[in-house]
Amino acid sequence: MNELQDTYKHKGMRLKLVEELALNGIKDERVLEAINKVPRHFFFDNAFVEKAYENKAFPIGEQQTISQPQTVAYQTQLLEIKKGDKVLEIGTGSGYQACILAVMGARVITIERNKKLHLRTKKLLPQLTKRPIIQLFGDGYFGAPTYGPFDKIIVTAAAPYIPPLLLDQLRIGGIMVIPVGTEKEDWQSMLKITKTAEDAFDKQVHFKCKFVPMLKGKQF
Ligand code: SAH
Repeated sequence: MNELQDTYKHKGMRLKLVEELALNGIKDERVLEAINKVPRHFFFDNAFVEKAYENKAFPIGEQQTISQPQTVAYQTQLLEIKKGDKVLEIGTGSGYQACILAVMGARVITIERNKKLHLRTKKLLPQLTKRPIIQLFGDGYFGAPTYGPFDKIIVTAAAPYIPPLLLDQLRIGGIMVIPVGTEKEDWQSMLKITKTAEDAFDKQVHFKCKFVPMLKGKQF
């Protein structure tokens, strides 16, 4: 990982990215503000720092990717984050999305199934934000029942179906944002699910997207 230096050049590139996101439909000012605050290049290896402010997904090792800034912004906007929201993230990956949520004042619990990524991010995130982010190593299909219920749940890997245990752990009035798609297609639909009563959900389909798969079990 790179030395954590945020120069004027980085800040300038980041502002340009934020302007691009705003032009592409991101209206929540607090999402734009958070993206402007968090140095995305801190989540990249030194050799690839130049790539950090392109509006693109990028490999982070272990056959995984840091999501495209546009997707991070859209998913975060759909979550309607309020200060103090308890948010569960499935798929810590680089830790970037978790950091954006924390900077917006959310209390973040994030789960990663890949041990190497989990350990890498566990070292990185405390250096970037003073807000404690709870980082768990485990299979996100089970959620994190001891920390729930959650105000918001964000899934950042392609789910073949909506995991029922995650719906259980959403509080009434809570929102889950999740890319869902069958294995037959190589794209998913971004769903926004609002829990309206114990067993009632309002489901909206938002846009097509492409995520790495949400897999079962832990990977050591
Ligand atoms: N939110 C990340 C992007 C993650 S890419 C970021 O901001 O960088 C998707 C991540 O989900 C990968 O790291 C992958 O290992 C993880 N993943 C896939 N299936 C999972 C599961 N069942 N539980 C937890 N993490 C999972």
